[in-house]
Amino acid sequence: MKRFKTGAMSFGSISEEAHEALAIAMNRLGGKSNSGEGGENPKRYTVDENGDLRSSAIKQMASGRFGAKSHYLVNAKELQIKMAQGAKPGEGGQLPAKKVYPWVADVRGSTPGVDLISPPPHHDIYSIEDLAQLIHDLKNANRDARVTVKLVAKSGVGTIAAGVAKGNADVISVVGYDGGTGASPKTSIKHAGLPWELGLSEAHQTLMMNGLRDRVILETDGKLMTGKDVVMAALLGAEEYGFATAPLVVIGCVMMRVCHMDTCPVGVATQNPELRKKFTGDPDHVVNYMKFIAEEVREIMAELGFRTMDEMVGRTDVLQVSDRAHSHWKAKHLDVSTLLYQPEGTRIHRVEQDHQLDRSLDMKQILPKVEHAIKHGEQIEASFAIKNTDRVTGTIVGSEISKLYGEKGLPEDTVKLNFTGSAGQSFGAFIPSGMTMKVTGDANDYVGKGLSGGKLIVRAPKETTIDPGNNVIAGNVSFYGASSGEAYIHGYAGERFAVRNSGANIVVEGVGDHGCEYMTGGRVVILGNVGKNFAAGMSGGIAYVKPDDIETFKKRCNTELIQFENITDQEEIEELKQIIANHYYYTNSEKAALTLQNWNDEIERIVKVIPTDYKRMVEQIKYYENQGLSTDDARYEAFMAKKEDKMTVTTDQQETLIK
Ligand code: SF4
Repeated sequence: MKRFKTGAMSFGSISEEAHEALAIAMNRLGGKSNSGEGGENPKRYTVDENGDLRSSAIKQMASGRFGAKSHYLVNAKELQIKMAQGAKPGEGGQLPAKKVYPWVADVRGSTPGVDLISPPPHHDIYSIEDLAQLIHDLKNANRDARVTVKLVAKSGVGTIAAGVAKGNADVISVVGYDGGTGASPKTSIKHAGLPWELGLSEAHQTLMMNGLRDRVILETDGKLMTGKDVVMAALLGAEEYGFATAPLVVIGCVMMRVCHMDTCPVGVATQNPELRKKFTGDPDHVVNYMKFIAEEVREIMAELGFRTMDEMVGRTDVLQVSDRAHSHWKAKHLDVSTLLYQPEGTRIHRVEQDHQLDRSLDMKQILPKVEHAIKHGEQIEASFAIKNTDRVTGTIVGSEISKLYGEKGLPEDTVKLNFTGSAGQSFGAFIPSGMTMKVTGDANDYVGKGLSGGKLIVRAPKETTIDPGNNVIAGNVSFYGASSGEAYIHGYAGERFAVRNSGANIVVEGVGDHGCEYMTGGRVVILGNVGKNFAAGMSGGIAYVKPDDIETFKKRCNTELIQFENITDQEEIEELKQIIANHYYYTNSEKAALTLQNWNDEIERIVKVIPTDYKRMVEQIKYYENQGLSTDDARYEAFMAKKEDKMTVTTDQQETLIK
């Protein structure tokens, strides 16, 4: 049963009851359920009194990085990078505002009632090397978890799979077009994907022909429903098998295909509390179903003369093209003989990938120094030299804190790590609360990726001869998917800065193109210029920008979802001043000093960028709080007002409230 998995079904798309039922069932069986990309409520990470565990063994990491915090990652047995989705390859996803209930927003790090967009690409993956870096990041974030890369069946997937195997993935999943919930567009399901059989056989054969098959486990998914499907998948080269549609049906789905409407009549694909009461699924039903599948697999294996699953993998010689295919008007034109080609060599996974974690700065120097202090929650400060081949520094230490102290981490500045030099990629990725990392020098790409509560400082050396405020000090894609924490960057950062930030407060002195894309929360303060396409897809959070020229800045923004404002609220002004004062304190920034010295004039030069829908929701929540409701109740009422198109705060009232 350890080879059986459920396909990715994200919390937010399906109800918590359905999500938990699948996790419990697969944990009872020793299989694995897949969290999907919506994050997971941490209350599920502890074992229930009856011994059940509601945590999904596979935690997914998709382009939206929703809920992908350090604590989420350390609670996985497998970390899956979703490169694409079988039912809609090349497309992103969207959770409509009306499904973003307060509890979904909490887990995803966003605002209730505001659309959530999963962009088509991962913003930190533009090449196979970038993917290899993310695989390495995740391996550092959880040394005990396997890292899977999910690909879709398409022509050429074999070449991609070979690259992924060389990039050190432990598992490659090839997914067909035919799974998925009714939330995927029908045109995509019908016309974009391919059957898993085509992708799987190509991936398996290409890996074998390149001597890479023994380095990875191959998995497939895409409407496997019977024991016969599993046997067919094994014969075409798969060692592990994902099921999505069938387990959903087992827990109650009646295939109404209205998953995206929040009206699922059986409480499976809805967040509506009334409809969720109609959920009658039982984990035992899924357990039974999987046992029947296993039994059918065993029977077919006996007929074919196989004693173990491993023996069966890649044995296409026992398959033949059915006579029916020859007589079918359309199928008769197909030549499927290439699917049955059997290269020479190892057909299954045999050797573990070498992730080279033992060579990291964390394992060699940092962890031995701070391990004792972390265990006892004691303060410690240590200094190290760093060079640009030291990648993912701090992440292993952070994972140890998350394992011991959960999502809340340690008190601020408990573990202070100072570095001098040029930090390699992913400096401070996923570090949790209680960790502070400062590099005096510069940093490469992906600084603070997935920042999970920690504090990061990148500052220029005192003796530098260049003007730090007008030079690049941090690479591309910094703070992608940051969920909380703070950071101070003493200079410019590259492209795609703070994409999908959902809660961190970050100060920087200028950014390249595509800054703050798809951001859903947090504050970004930019004491300088931005590149083009700033704030595209930004649906939450606030950016404060002090450009050289305000009109040029506005032209560089993507204004589809945002609006510009002056900052007039006194509380907000003080909060912003404090963030900039912190920047000066940590970096000695000249730009921060000048801004603070002439504060009354400088505040006039700062443009506030805020998404329009987000602003409306925040004001609607404030409106209910002013009526005497608790924050939780106000969030719920505001969400329901949005859902039922009964927002009580008009634009004029908003202006009044803001004043
Ligand atoms: S019953 Fe319909 S809406 Fe509910 S999960 Fe199944 S297909 Fe989706």
